[in-house]
Amino acid sequence: MRTKLIAGNWKMHGSKSFIETLMNGMTGQLNAAMKSDVLVCPPTIYIPLVKNLIGDKAIAVGGQDLSEQEQGAYTGEISGDMLKDNGCQYVIVGHSERRSLYCETDILVAHKTGKAIECGLTPILCVGETLEQREKGTTMQVVEQQLDAVIDTLGIDAFANIVVAYEPVWAIGTGVTASPDQAQEVHSAIRAHLRNKSAQVAESIKILYGGSMKAANAEELLAQPDIDGGLIGGASLKADEFIAICNIA
Ligand code: PGA
Repeated sequence: MRTKLIAGNWKMHGSKSFIETLMNGMTGQLNAAMKSDVLVCPPTIYIPLVKNLIGDKAIAVGGQDLSEQEQGAYTGEISGDMLKDNGCQYVIVGHSERRSLYCETDILVAHKTGKAIECGLTPILCVGETLEQREKGTTMQVVEQQLDAVIDTLGIDAFANIVVAYEPVWAIGTGVTASPDQAQEVHSAIRAHLRNKSAQVAESIKILYGGSMKAANAEELLAQPDIDGGLIGGASLKADEFIAICNIA
């Protein structure tokens, strides 16, 4: 049995006062008997504040990106060691916004994934197709190419330390969710692709769904056999909504 993971990706949202309210709302409602793992990924500068507000509650913290470099003259970058040093356990890698807006290639994403593992962080490796690619019928080709860059660079065994997030680009921030069947189809194909290389990896790896997940659609999505949790953007900025999804999982 794979423990479900509900991860909030706050993107570039928040302020000290907003985050205080959000975290107090979350910790106040967190059910100690909850079965799923819970994670929040704030903007980097707020990570220490969020760690502080979490206290001893069972909420993990992660970064939204990291540098593929170790350290040095890389103005503006944040290293995996810095995230780890500030209490992070996870880091999102290769989010579609990073791929499209900041020109991150499959190979750069593979290097970042490797660096995260080296630093003792669990990378959440995001993959997913655009609407145009889905309409052309190339969804699995795109997703496999994104996965293969990591498999070829790091080897399949690295996936023992990776969480995959399937995020169809057309569903991110649009209010349009992949249907449970559409999501399950891709999740199961991702698992099958990994199974070709390692049955053990395929059975144990968590594959999260991301793209307009909210309390109202989480139950159906999380009931699919190959969906092991969610990577949640907009709905993770509302304490009630996020905790409701955690309770469903
Ligand atoms: P969304 O974002 O839930 O707002 O669609 C998901 C994500 O980008 O990870």
